[in-house]
Amino acid sequence: MKINTAEFIVSNSDVSKCPNEPLPEYAFIGRSNVGKSSLINMITNRNSLAKTSGKPGKTQLINHFKINENWYLVDLPGYGYARVSKSTKETFQKFITDYFERREQLVCAFVLIDIRLEAQKIDLEFINYLGETEVPFCIVFTKADKISRGKVDQHIAAYRKKLLANNWEEMPQHFVTSSTEGTGRDALLSYIEEVNQG
Ligand code: GDP
Repeated sequence: MKINTAEFIVSNSDVSKCPNEPLPEYAFIGRSNVGKSSLINMITNRNSLAKTSGKPGKTQLINHFKINENWYLVDLPGYGYARVSKSTKETFQKFITDYFERREQLVCAFVLIDIRLEAQKIDLEFINYLGETEVPFCIVFTKADKISRGKVDQHIAAYRKKLLANNWEEMPQHFVTSSTEGTGRDALLSYIEEVNQG
């Protein structure tokens, strides 16, 4: 898919105020600092569509970007900077769970995972929450340039093992990306295009 237009539409923290259009939506979410803004900018080929920030937790809103006039890329707040461990509902703020439970336009969530790290409890909690809520999702491993190709495969195998231990039957669809090198861009955009074409 070629990106012809990528336009910021609206930010808010209320799912009922999200754009009232029947366009398919793809949501990007992950732990703070996972590389979400960099990935969104890489995918859309824009330098600063999503604001990269040094300060975790700065962008606490649902941001809608309209792509090619026919789908929405949704940038959701980063999670996981709270120090205290809480229940899932509290960990993932209500407006985020509202988004996943009520947004009919949502087609697929992309859950971003830093490829370098061992599986983090909060990510597993979130993935399990999506499973329970029956939200279709893919895993997007980020920052692949930071480790060797061999390590990438090893880390994915370890992640798969962890998910199977969490009662998942198979490793979900996943992508390996690097925003600095443009890795995974074509694969992600082709996937979105395929899903959009049904
Ligand atoms: P966000 O908080 O999830 O939006 O993360 P950012 O996109 O702001 O990235 C957090 C930090 O990781 C920044 O210092 C980025 O430059 C760096 N970063 C993000 N993606 C990549 C990547 O693919 N490769 C490398 N080497 N660094 C990255």
